[in-house]
Amino acid sequence: METRLDRYEGAKENKINQLRQLIEESDNVVFLGGAGVSTESGIPDFRSGEGIYNQESGLKYRPVDIISHSFFMEHPDEFYDFYKRKLLYPDAKPNKAHKALVRLEKQGKLKATITQNIDNLHQEAGSTTTIELHGSVFRNYCMECGKKFDLEYVVEHEGIPYCDKCGGMIRPDIVLYEENLEHQNVDGAIKAIKKADLLIIGGTSLTVYPAATFAQFLKHDKVVIINKSSTYLDLQALLTIHDSIGDVLDSAIPKTVPDKKPATKKTAAKKTTSKKTSTAKKADTDKKTSASKKTTSSAKKATASKKETSAKQPAAKKPAAKKPAVSKKATDAKKPADKKKTGSKKSKE
Ligand SMILES: [Zn+2]
Repeated sequence: METRLDRYEGAKENKINQLRQLIEESDNVVFLGGAGVSTESGIPDFRSGEGIYNQESGLKYRPVDIISHSFFMEHPDEFYDFYKRKLLYPDAKPNKAHKALVRLEKQGKLKATITQNIDNLHQEAGSTTTIELHGSVFRNYCMECGKKFDLEYVVEHEGIPYCDKCGGMIRPDIVLYEENLEHQNVDGAIKAIKKADLLIIGGTSLTVYPAATFAQFLKHDKVVIINKSSTYLDLQALLTIHDSIGDVLDSAIPKTVPDKKPATKKTAAKKTTSKKTSTAKKADTDKKTSASKKTTSSAKKATASKKETSAKQPAAKKPAAKKPAVSKKATDAKKPADKKKTGSKKSKE
């Protein structure tokens, strides 16, 4: 006799089949993910019961206050103390969700992976379409001269990391509260969503700006939500699955990854193949250099130097709900630092 659990399992399997079907019918999928994508790699989120906001900061300030622009400027020492203990997880590894998304990308279907996470795990898994709305702890720069530093440099230096060229203070290239998201990232995300014929939202309770508003740019109702808890979009979504994002994506996304892109153009296919040898290799290397290389070396170092702290998660940052990112003119006035940031960012791009 069928038990309620059987029926539940059946319903779950049925939903995964529906997702599989939707993916199969789509050729322009966009994924929008939040902290829940990284929790399965051992990185705590911010808002859940065990989230960072609910943890003891070890300081007299609340975590949510510490990761703000003004706090960083006024108490860099305490900021870095908290940041290194609670937001850096250099040992974290991509999980099933990250890997499944990379398969989908290689199958030619996934066009953009929009993330609120700052842990580099999508790229580490092999993603080349990631848009980091909140930046990355793997990129750091001197607030005075703009020189760039990897995570390793930051981790290796006790307390506040200073530039070895000019002595200026180094900051992580992440978006703190009171700071704006980079326009090009927001624009890129919106453009991708507008073109998508299927939007999969996962691991986010959709309470954080601006992700919470992105779905409105979709021109149809093909939205799938995968999250352990419910979101305000659940009822409007075509399909809602309250389950582990890693399990769901891993089951719904085919395991096979074609050697060549399923693109019909011969040139594209050819390029992909021959590239493997020369160009691609270089591209690969470049990519590694810029992103995951940091992971490897810094991860090692970080492990060594901060084993005793908490060690396993790469950081997440989450500026948001309360900060209206795009409107920051007002804030600019009172924070000269912001300008600097914007300036140096621009120049490096
Ligand atoms: Zn400098």
